[in-house]
Amino acid sequence: MSLSRALRIVFDRTPDDTIDLFKAFPGLRRFFERRRLHAFIRTLGDIIFTFIILEGLFGPQDPSRNCTLYLSWGLWWPTIVMSWFFVGRMWCGFCPFPGVGRIVQRLGLSLERPVPGFVKKNAPYLSVILLALIIWLEESTGIKESPRGTALLILSIMAGATIMAALFPKQAWCRYLCPMGRLLGVGSTLSLMEFRPDFEKCQTCRTFACKKGKDGRGGCPVYLGAFNVKNNLDCLICGHCLSLCDKDSPKLNLRSPFKELLLNKGRFVTCSFIIPFLMGSQLVRFLESSSLSVVLQRDLASLDTMVTYSGLLLIAFFYIHFIIKVGAWFFGYTEDELFGKFSPMVPIFIPMAFSGELAYRLDYAVAGAPEFFPVVSRQFGIDSLKQWTFELPPWIFTALNVFMMASAVAACCYLLYRFVHDEFEGLVPWWRTLSVSGLIFITGGTYLFFMLNT
Ligand code: SF4
Ligand code: SF4
Ligand code: SF4
Repeated sequence: MSLSRALRIVFDRTPDDTIDLFKAFPGLRRFFERRRLHAFIRTLGDIIFTFIILEGLFGPQDPSRNCTLYLSWGLWWPTIVMSWFFVGRMWCGFCPFPGVGRIVQRLGLSLERPVPGFVKKNAPYLSVILLALIIWLEESTGIKESPRGTALLILSIMAGATIMAALFPKQAWCRYLCPMGRLLGVGSTLSLMEFRPDFEKCQTCRTFACKKGKDGRGGCPVYLGAFNVKNNLDCLICGHCLSLCDKDSPKLNLRSPFKELLLNKGRFVTCSFIIPFLMGSQLVRFLESSSLSVVLQRDLASLDTMVTYSGLLLIAFFYIHFIIKVGAWFFGYTEDELFGKFSPMVPIFIPMAFSGELAYRLDYAVAGAPEFFPVVSRQFGIDSLKQWTFELPPWIFTALNVFMMASAVAACCYLLYRFVHDEFEGLVPWWRTLSVSGLIFITGGTYLFFMLNT
């Protein structure tokens, strides 16, 4: 693989070009195909998570003496959010949450009922409701300061995956309800990587083993199969279908991170629903940690916290939804005879949603980093780790947030430029383009206003 070609693709100079990473790095293909190393990493993850849960439940409950908090909120979450951009949904291939459910199914204890139509039809809404619940727990209950609360939250997601596995075949939780998976899927539309089949090879396939399985081995855990993967929303990049396919069709490609956003044009309900929710929730989260929340608490003190928080989430959701609608109105095109209705502002805002989430998670990670080893030292009585600390200059948070938002605004404007010049070939007049740019700057400015008022 030539580095210059890779850079040209990544920086969107040859946007339709991709590099087949399985061809460029055959070891990568072997890693996914021969499941041993894959299984080893997954087992390692299971052990780490068991440790986190046990320490959270039974370890010291003083936050300065329990590393569960930093491992979960400071390392695990930010790493997952960062992974959206680099490897898409690959975390799902190693995720420990469906593990117990898989054991239940292997023991033949699952009822294997068909997944109800209601769940399939309303999956994006149901998973966003669960996500809202997690965010509310995170922000309003002090769970980030409670090792036991954190462990219980992890256990409750695991319980959801296990109950679904006991009722339905394979990983129904991952396909339909997991709030993290939904977030990972939407975030991964901005990824540098995509898992795709070679559609020409699939056209002549008679077995569809990637979906149905073969020789007693089950097929795709989320009822997809490689031939159905056309975007990054649902495929877990678990690699399970690789060894099932006789035609060597599935590929892992390096691509431009903008490719899928331009191609999809915000046509999927998952994105058009979760992006306003995610961005709205970020605004509320930044507002909560800003000095403005003092005024808010004074004025809204009489209201129950859950009611207040839900109300704020709802207002912020509709505010972003409104911005998206106004942006689409300015853009002037929301329907195409080829691909039907679309929503240009949804893909345009995806880099901002990604940056907002990463900035929020990194703030916690950076703020807690100097104390990590002293916490481990107090928890396990390892005195030598006490000195492993350092001081952070206060400007680091401002610099981090300004950098994240400036990159997001630049990426959003670039996507707008590509829509106007390439996808709609100059059909959008300059004043409309300028108005949409204005909305991007206003939204980025609103983020920064809340971020820097801490
Ligand atoms: S969808 Fe959720 S439970 Fe399933 S693998 Fe992904 S993060 Fe884990
Ligand atoms: S990925 Fe392989 S098994 Fe699946 S449809 Fe294509 S050729 Fe057939
Ligand atoms: S299509 Fe293949 S890689 Fe994607 S989830 Fe299904 S089995 Fe895993």
